Amino acid sequence: MINQEALWIRDKVKAHNKWFEECIPMIASENLMSPLAKEMLISDFADRYAEGLPGKRYYQGNIYVDQVESKAMEMARELFECNFADLRPISGTVANMAVLFAFAEPGDVITTCALAQGAHISTAKFGAFGLRAVESVNYPFNESDMNLDVDGTIKLLNEVKPKVAQFGLSVFLFPPPLKELQDTFQEIGCTVWYDAAHVLGLIAGGQFQDPFREGVNVMSSSTHKTFPGPNHGMLLGHNLEEEQEKALYRAVFPGVTSSHHLHAMAALAITLAEQKVFAKEYAAQTVKNSRALGEALYERGVDVLCPDLGFTRSHAIAVDVSKFGGGKTVAQDLEDANIICNKNMLPSDTSAIKPSGIRLGVQELTRVGMKESEMVQVAELVARVCNKDPTAKVKEDVKELKRNFTKIRYCFNDGEEAYRFHELV
Ligand SMILES: *Cc1c(COP(=O)(O)O)cnc(C)c1O
Repeated sequence: MINQEALWIRDKVKAHNKWFEECIPMIASENLMSPLAKEMLISDFADRYAEGLPGKRYYQGNIYVDQVESKAMEMARELFECNFADLRPISGTVANMAVLFAFAEPGDVITTCALAQGAHISTAKFGAFGLRAVESVNYPFNESDMNLDVDGTIKLLNEVKPKVAQFGLSVFLFPPPLKELQDTFQEIGCTVWYDAAHVLGLIAGGQFQDPFREGVNVMSSSTHKTFPGPNHGMLLGHNLEEEQEKALYRAVFPGVTSSHHLHAMAALAITLAEQKVFAKEYAAQTVKNSRALGEALYERGVDVLCPDLGFTRSHAIAVDVSKFGGGKTVAQDLEDANIICNKNMLPSDTSAIKPSGIRLGVQELTRVGMKESEMVQVAELVARVCNKDPTAKVKEDVKELKRNFTKIRYCFNDGEEAYRFHELV
């Protein structure tokens, strides 16, 4: 027996899966988990509780949970070459809150980027930074190269002497100049915090930058953007003092979580094991693809930011679509053609509701096996939508292109279907 409502819900979820199989998904913060990792999400771990750290739990029943979590912590430290990992934060934002509670008091100064420069909502006054009531000060930012102004940032750091200097963006095109700032960090004795949510998979694969070798003390992250794991979070640290590690553990539990999401943790463990093998190849192809997409769009008269810098060093590009009606219109038209992306503020924008840009990420397309030549085809489809080719027509060509790219790559189940709905009942 199954009631109409449950059937209806299930049909909608199935319809979503089918739709995405026929889409070109380019939201820069999404990815596809491997089938092996997905399997963990329907395990009995999903129904259980674990408070505290492995070996020091408050409930019984965690024999295997503890083994999996300890192994996952070890693999995380190994993959990111660091000596602290906490896999309990249930999202990137929760990981950020833990850092805020461990390393800052209300009123402390934290330096960070502004939303229009591509920062995440958690660093805003109405986000986690505001909840912790820290005083945030924004870095000077160069629109022309979508990165921090080095001299201005050194000057600012010396002036405001932040307790914590925070880096990392949601429109994260180029690595911040951490090496150039390292001496200043030392002089003012601040904690250096890197939010790797968008670029964790690239860092794992040796692309973008290596924060822990560039003076970073603590790294917070989501685990489902370029890192192709479950919707979850993670904290990593390197050469922290014992008191700092304890403060982070305490901030996670009992601070911002009680039990964590054990099934997601197990899926993250599988993804860590897979990325030890595949991260290099996957990350390198991801960056090649985003640069190829930028180039091909630019050649078609679409204003991709930073042409002189090769458009990007990450998985994402930022595009000024004001001449085609703005980000809101273009993102909606693209969705009508089965190309999924989001409108985005660009540095000169003042409105988050009517921004002039869109953000495109290629990590999921890379994951289903697309390479540079497919990026040219994707660029052509995006450019046609920008130029008001009827979306119904473009949609048919999107489906045609996607037909050959529905299988997952860079994981142990290489070649398995990526978007199929598993029959459970
Ligand atoms: C996505 C993101 C986060 C966290 O997102 P969650 O959805 O909470 O995992 C944090 N920081 C940045 C820069 C992000 O882009």
